[in-house]
Amino acid sequence: MTTVASEALLDLAVSDVRQHVYCPRIPYFRLCLRLPHRFVTGAMQEGILEHRRTEDLEHRRTLQAYGLEDGERAFDVQMRSARLGLGGRIDMVVRRATEVVLVEFKNTRAGLVLPHKYQLTAYALLAEEHFEESVRRAFVYFIPLKRAQQIDITPAMRAYARRVLGEIRGAVARERMPDGTRVLGRCRVCEFLPYCNDRW
Ligand code: SF4
Repeated sequence: MTTVASEALLDLAVSDVRQHVYCPRIPYFRLCLRLPHRFVTGAMQEGILEHRRTEDLEHRRTLQAYGLEDGERAFDVQMRSARLGLGGRIDMVVRRATEVVLVEFKNTRAGLVLPHKYQLTAYALLAEEHFEESVRRAFVYFIPLKRAQQIDITPAMRAYARRVLGEIRGAVARERMPDGTRVLGRCRVCEFLPYCNDRW
């Protein structure tokens, strides 16, 4: 009897999950059509610098912003799961006796949105495998607001994040462009607008 090797999963990044929730066409364009990456504007460069400054400050801060009394911090933690075919680098991990807490820094005043929630959920799936510890909550730290907001990682959110991985791979395998976001305001500022004929 011949053994058929299981097909390798298309390698995805946590940012693909975030982008899919924002608009499913964005990871499709990158992964299937191989459209070039986003160019870095001056404002984005400043955002990257602010992000690094926050990380430097975080080394000297307490964990009070997250309502945590203790925990050991690690920064820029790279994680990967062959089982999920997923990888990503989280800004900060706080390891405690009974849990692992994840933190992502965001340079925005706009507040928490669904793409952030599912980005953190995808990180939670990775962290649970990486640290062999449950991840029940995560935080987004909004740099301009100097404020952290908690996200509870629920079973429904985990299931949806896994579904997103399947949807991205399905669209790429079928080479079929998915429906775009229903939030038309996103299209006005999207670099991929020239490729979306139904949005002109
Ligand atoms: S233009 Fe709109 S539909 Fe097209 S990729 Fe951008 S956000 Fe999505």
